[in-house]
Amino acid sequence: MEKILIQLPKRLVMKLEKSKALYEEAVKLLPGGVSSPVRAIKPFPFYTAKAEGSKIYDVDGNCYIDYCLAYGPLILGHANPVVKSALMEQLEKGWLYGTPIELEVKYAKLITKLYKSIEMLRFVNTGSEATMSAIRLARGFTGRNKILKIEGSFHGSHDAVLVKAGSGATTHGIPNSAGVPPDFVKHTLQVPFNDVEALAEVVEKNRDDLACVIMEPVMGNSSLIIPEEGYLKEVRKITAENDVLLIFDEVITGFRLALGGAQEFYGIEADLTTLGKIAGGGLPIGIFGGRREIMEHVAPSGNVYQAGTFSGNPLSLTAGYTTVKFMIENKVIDVVNRTTEELVKGLKDQIEDSNANLEIDSIASMFCVYFGRKPKNYADALKLDKDRYMKFFWKMLENDVFFPPSQFETCFVSYAHTKEDVEKTIEAFGLCLREL
Ligand SMILES: *Cc1c(COP(=O)(O)O)cnc(C)c1O
Repeated sequence: MEKILIQLPKRLVMKLEKSKALYEEAVKLLPGGVSSPVRAIKPFPFYTAKAEGSKIYDVDGNCYIDYCLAYGPLILGHANPVVKSALMEQLEKGWLYGTPIELEVKYAKLITKLYKSIEMLRFVNTGSEATMSAIRLARGFTGRNKILKIEGSFHGSHDAVLVKAGSGATTHGIPNSAGVPPDFVKHTLQVPFNDVEALAEVVEKNRDDLACVIMEPVMGNSSLIIPEEGYLKEVRKITAENDVLLIFDEVITGFRLALGGAQEFYGIEADLTTLGKIAGGGLPIGIFGGRREIMEHVAPSGNVYQAGTFSGNPLSLTAGYTTVKFMIENKVIDVVNRTTEELVKGLKDQIEDSNANLEIDSIASMFCVYFGRKPKNYADALKLDKDRYMKFFWKMLENDVFFPPSQFETCFVSYAHTKEDVEKTIEAFGLCLREL
């Protein structure tokens, strides 16, 4: 085969011919060549051959230090051996029964211990399914139709939450996907993040029709947007005073900010919580849970319908339960937070040395390099220079570091990242800033 060296943005030279060939076939078979949109890196993504620890290897033999980490689930890094052996053991016993299993009870007990606000829960298959079901439950429980979300927050790919951020807080949502009838989202209201007044106004005005406020307590899908001091406490207060349910979508923050998620980190209790990502230890999972009096409305104990063939499947529960147990036993959060701190400090020094127009921020083991000013809401995030970020992305990849392929994603650090990884990353980062 002829050796092709692909020029990816000007001056960048990488060996990626096998990935390129695969992508050329993929675009004929899969929309955009991928199974989920963010993976369609331009001009084409690298194809992964295997991954272990902090490293991901592509089909052309390149090896990258991974800070994308499948967009959040892999807090232990790739292919953790303890999780792997638990999975092998389960595989011997079969991998799908369609009947209850003991692990459902054990894992549910563990989660209710870690999350004070969760007394009862249901296992589902994805974060999207969890938020879809939690919203249905909030509507069923309160008998109200409207929901309020935060501009730029992401709760998965179902109709009610696929609403464009933007126009005034009180105007009805406009779908930002074809195929979502405006009628389906006319009940979805929005306000900007970190704006207590806007939230109070919309909640008070709509309190008789408003089932819930749903939010990511730390926004991880519009770059990384951290709540200002006191904001979440105010949100809790306003929703409680107006008798509106508060749903914390902790699909990213759960088991990441603390074992008990953002709720433990900030000392706040939501009415309903959604979990996913880390909760499945790298296998598909979603969880929604909350106060017993609300959760008892879910079928078959109540009249809010929810069901799934693969829900509570033995493999996802095994990987998730083993991961959370491992995290407790090895104080994983302390370790990854320390690694993140060291890394971010090093990156910050490089930014200062370079006079580049960048900022960086982090919380626990999430961090983000902002090409522009650090945002406090979605409108700010839209001002970031996403094209320059992509140039940076490719430069980093050329230097064997895999950051997420979008300015609007968050970087993650895992338990598998070593001191040497951190040093290499800082060095690569400095080099990239000089060449940008
Ligand atoms: C990833 C994500 C989801 C969707 O989870 P899937 O498992 O991809 O369906 C929902 N909410 C938040 C905050 C997420 O980050």
